[in-house]
Amino acid sequence: MLIVRLASDRDLDIARAANAMNGHGSEVHRVRLGPDTLILFEPIGPTKDLCADLRALPGVAEACVLDTPYILSARKAAGDRTRVRVGADLVVGGTEFVVMAGPCAVETQDQVSTAARAVRDAGARIIRGGAYKPRTSPFGFQGRGEAGLDILGQARHETGLPIVSEVMSPGDVDGVTAKVDILQVGMRNALNYPLLTAIGHHPDRPPVLLKCGIGTPVTEFLCAADYILAGGNANVILCLRGTVGLSGDSRATLNIADIPALRGRTHLPIIVDPSHAAGRRDFVPSMAAAALAAGADGLLIEVHDRPDAALSDGAQSLTPPGFSALMRHLRRLAPVMGRTMIDPVGPEPQKNGHPFTDLCMEAPPTSDSGAHGTP
Ligand code: PEP
Ligand code: MN
Repeated sequence: MLIVRLASDRDLDIARAANAMNGHGSEVHRVRLGPDTLILFEPIGPTKDLCADLRALPGVAEACVLDTPYILSARKAAGDRTRVRVGADLVVGGTEFVVMAGPCAVETQDQVSTAARAVRDAGARIIRGGAYKPRTSPFGFQGRGEAGLDILGQARHETGLPIVSEVMSPGDVDGVTAKVDILQVGMRNALNYPLLTAIGHHPDRPPVLLKCGIGTPVTEFLCAADYILAGGNANVILCLRGTVGLSGDSRATLNIADIPALRGRTHLPIIVDPSHAAGRRDFVPSMAAAALAAGADGLLIEVHDRPDAALSDGAQSLTPPGFSALMRHLRRLAPVMGRTMIDPVGPEPQKNGHPFTDLCMEAPPTSDSGAHGTP
């Protein structure tokens, strides 16, 4: 595919570039991506001189051939790394290392508000919580649905933090967009093209946290991101949450090499979810620190004030003190990696508290699957 990127939305520049392509291939798409306009077409014949000619046109910032199956999420499709703005004062994909945290599932107002206040005080920037829950078993807790979104809305009001929550079907995209700050697309829906298309075309261009499927190759993951970008929504945050692998000890296998590999391939921000990758809370700190060290832009971490009573994913949920201790360690590591993190609310507890290795050994889950079974 040949892509022409115009750092311009002037009709004249776009028409001139499209005209110059006449006879060299068929124009297949024109996409507005953040500040840029992209024209994509399948070229016929040699492209070297054509690219050089196109680059010389007014408004054209780049013209090149991409031989990857993904196009819009490819690094060359954007002039700079994408920074996704969330609310008024938060950016994912900049220098700040952004931690999103909260329970797996929205259960009650008290449960969400307690977790939300605790993670905010520890320095989390975004509250997570699933109102619509994709569960492996149809008999697992399926979430509170719309009522759960209202519970999250109350937690947002109480903490002042934005919220991220999952949307599972195209018909819910409008309703969930109206009530959350970031739409999550879970790993089971990572290749649900009607859902991705509906999100891409939403006129609000909501920020999206797109999780990689457990068996999805990185090229297909980026093609999934393309479905959202193709609709004109450039606010995509990629989330690695582990893939199938050989380890018998963790729920999935988090390949740390996927972080630099993705960074090389795409301009989109990358966050890591160590909770679902590990499946057990005592592995979460090591994987979180590794993700920060390897260049991730942030983390998604499950926290529950009573993990053993959680309706889903209790075994991998940190307690509020465990989360706060992890954040303390991450805050020390972040500057070494050229990242900033905000201070916790109130005094930093146990400034020189126990070493990181102790944190990783602390409070292993009481059972393999949490209090209520399946993932
Ligand atoms: C979740 O975030 O709770 C979740 C269900 O994640 P995943 O889609 O990665 O399994
Ligand atoms: Mn979960």
